[in-house]
Amino acid sequence: MAKKNYLRLLGNLLFVAALLGISPLAAAGRLTPAQEAALFSLADLGSLDFSAKRVVVEIYASDSPELKGFHRLLPQAWEEVRLFYARLGVLLDMVPAGPAPGKLEAGKRLRFEALTHKQWLAATFKAFEVAPPFRLRFQTVCRDKYAFAHLNLSTIHLDFKRFQDDICGGRSGEAKLGPERLAHLMIHELGHLFGLYHAHEFVNDPIPEYLPDGKTPNFMSHHLLTRGSLGFVDFQKRLIHSYLGGGKVFQQYRHVDFDPLRYLELLKQHNSYREPKEEKGRSSDFPSNDG
Ligand SMILES: [Zn+2]
Repeated sequence: MAKKNYLRLLGNLLFVAALLGISPLAAAGRLTPAQEAALFSLADLGSLDFSAKRVVVEIYASDSPELKGFHRLLPQAWEEVRLFYARLGVLLDMVPAGPAPGKLEAGKRLRFEALTHKQWLAATFKAFEVAPPFRLRFQTVCRDKYAFAHLNLSTIHLDFKRFQDDICGGRSGEAKLGPERLAHLMIHELGHLFGLYHAHEFVNDPIPEYLPDGKTPNFMSHHLLTRGSLGFVDFQKRLIHSYLGGGKVFQQYRHVDFDPLRYLELLKQHNSYREPKEEKGRSSDFPSNDG
């Protein structure tokens, strides 16, 4: 096509777009306040498809000797993770992976990295974009954190050695708890990559910290050291299938570029959810470096 004709065609197309009210800059599509309120209401998740959802989880373990224990714990832990999600209708396929991630995709192909402490810090700073002057403070805030799930990266980073020493009984001789502790952590972190938020986030939402039996911890609570199985409520199953099936929950996250903090703000606002009063003292494995 001659250059002149091409320019004329382009001009015509832009003219038509302008007539139709389509601006290329506005194509990303801002929602009106009413549309945003409707999108973020959890009262109605629309039609849900509960067919089994298959998700691939790449597992990478650093080849440092620090990770020796991870290789030992993983087979038994993974079996518990797999069975837990099968109860939710999510079929996990584990794929061993190398240091370079494959082509990850939200809700389809995820990645779990078991790292040395040094690698974990570097990966965490990079994922949260923590600039050097703030790193020391961030480290202090994260002292009791062993893993972060980064929804925008479809990736979980685990500081394995510290987790093993502090939580898996590496120092206390309770080493037989290791596989269960690792399984609980993986179940919880994968929950974040399936679009779930913490059970303690709001006081008046349908997600309690313990199941109605009063002793089974919800897998999205922080009571992950309890012996025995973790549990879930039906509402969480609905959220997961909505997310993995590309339904309303997936659209919500897409609207906030998979940023969990913006997501929670909008949920709170449009569902009149309230945070617990003693919220400040609570720990969260979402970043709290915004203050
Ligand atoms: Zn969490």
